[in-house]
Amino acid sequence: MKFQNHRKKIQYIGTVVMFSLVFGLFNHKLGLVFLAIPFIAVLLSNVLGRFWCGWFCPRGSFLNTVISKISRHKKIPKFLKSTTFKVIMATILLGMFTLALLGYNPLIQDESPLVRAGAFMIFVCIVTTLLIAIPLGIIYKPRTWCSFCPVGWLQSAFSKDRILNVEIKDCKECGICAKECPIDIPEDYIGEEDIIDDADCLNCMVCVDACPFDISNPTIK
Ligand code: SF4
Ligand code: SF4
Repeated sequence: MKFQNHRKKIQYIGTVVMFSLVFGLFNHKLGLVFLAIPFIAVLLSNVLGRFWCGWFCPRGSFLNTVISKISRHKKIPKFLKSTTFKVIMATILLGMFTLALLGYNPLIQDESPLVRAGAFMIFVCIVTTLLIAIPLGIIYKPRTWCSFCPVGWLQSAFSKDRILNVEIKDCKECGICAKECPIDIPEDYIGEEDIIDDADCLNCMVCVDACPFDISNPTIK
């Protein structure tokens, strides 16, 4: 089964949503809709892992459909995937979130803290996409951002007992799946009869579609 045909259709919708975020800069109440996203993603992750990231995230969709066309598709440096870097990113964004919530961001002024929080989601999504996700996506793999995204990291933390995984049986060690994976996960599993249980796995099924021997498959366990 080719999962990517279906995934691509969903991701075109996600890309349109990503572009529509710009309207949120002018109407902060729109941010209330986007405030729900981290909660939905984290709730899903307990069962499906980072399925949200792999299939629905508007920013991830945009990186897949648009930035992948101009990306150099180079391996992601280990440092960008390290816990240290994830902590740095999460701390910076949490600090910015607190300032916005307290009303110190001159671009996000509103009576309601809830609207300020929602507007921050849109504001920070646009800023980080322009300044970090797009440049890194061009230099390395398109979804380099997803290796350290704080919302993604939160999902990884809740993904330990997920039931949806990718299983490899009788691997021929050709390495194609490792090359295609958006965040360089399968290289540690090549040659093993194993379930890809890396908490950062996006469950995007790119590796499943890429395997020329059809020995990599989704599994519910
Ligand atoms: S290991 Fe497979 S399912 Fe997981 S992120 Fe990589 S390509 Fe997607
Ligand atoms: S593409 Fe298939 S055969 Fe090749 S390394 Fe990956 S799981 Fe093994």
